[in-house]
Amino acid sequence: MHVLILGGTGEARRLAGLLHEAQVPGARVTSSLAGRVAAPRLPAGEVRIGGFGGADGLADWLRTHAVDALIDATHPFARTISFNAAAAAALAHVPLLALRRPGWAAGPGDDWHAAGSLEEAAALLPEIGRRVFLTTGRMGLAAFAPLDALWFLMRSVDAPEPPFPARMEVLLDRGPFTLEGEREVLRAHAVDVLVTKDSGGAATAPKLTAAREARIPVVVVRRPPVPDGVEVAATPEEAAAWVRGLRG
Ligand code: NAP
Repeated sequence: MHVLILGGTGEARRLAGLLHEAQVPGARVTSSLAGRVAAPRLPAGEVRIGGFGGADGLADWLRTHAVDALIDATHPFARTISFNAAAAAALAHVPLLALRRPGWAAGPGDDWHAAGSLEEAAALLPEIGRRVFLTTGRMGLAAFAPLDALWFLMRSVDAPEPPFPARMEVLLDRGPFTLEGEREVLRAHAVDVLVTKDSGGAATAPKLTAAREARIPVVVVRRPPVPDGVEVAATPEEAAAWVRGLRG
């Protein structure tokens, strides 16, 4: 049985490990990465890197490589590849599962401001703060570029390319992050507002706790929807069980 995992997340790596090891005997696992990160953490099993050439290209790949099951374990904000996966799975008649970690929820003491997009987040910022900790990744920085009056601390795995805000310091780092470390980032840079996508998961959640403790408001960008009709699993373990179920 050949399983293709569309990856780029910790959950995708964990699922590849579960399927590759003894958990699902006989399963051949290929993980696909977009190639955005210069030195990605590699999952167990086979790995291919680079785009497929849209939904048609992915459907061709599924047929050519005799894929029996497709798991979209990409980041909740990787919208295009998720819609391509749904279209390709339908074209090639391959069962599809989306692996999506649950989003975060505000708790007591949180001051969260929801935004529908990075542009909406940028529009909210001048009313909320002056020193912004921007953790939405190096893609999409153009939305914040016109905000000359604000200062940004932008954290990403690889260095960003313009356009980006004029007053911006770059912090190159990769999660998981600790609460201690996040407290120190907020304090050392006198951050007064945090911007994040609703990525969910534990690896990047400590910044939310640190912001709550320091009474710093958070602009949270809402997730795009999962394509209609696609079955969703919340954990790698659930996704591995789905694969076992396909094997009957
Ligand atoms: P996207 O906008 O949904 O996809 C853009 C194009 O990149 C797709 O059309 C596809 O090219 C290619 N692609 C994306 N994921 C791929 C994969 N796993 N394997 C092969 N090709 C892939 O994606 P994105 O938001 O730029 O994210 C790219 C990757 O980074 C994803 O794998 C995602 O899991 C990871 N990531 C994204 C975020 C985020 O916030 N967006 C955060 C952390 C990690 P073709 O059309 O040519 O097939």
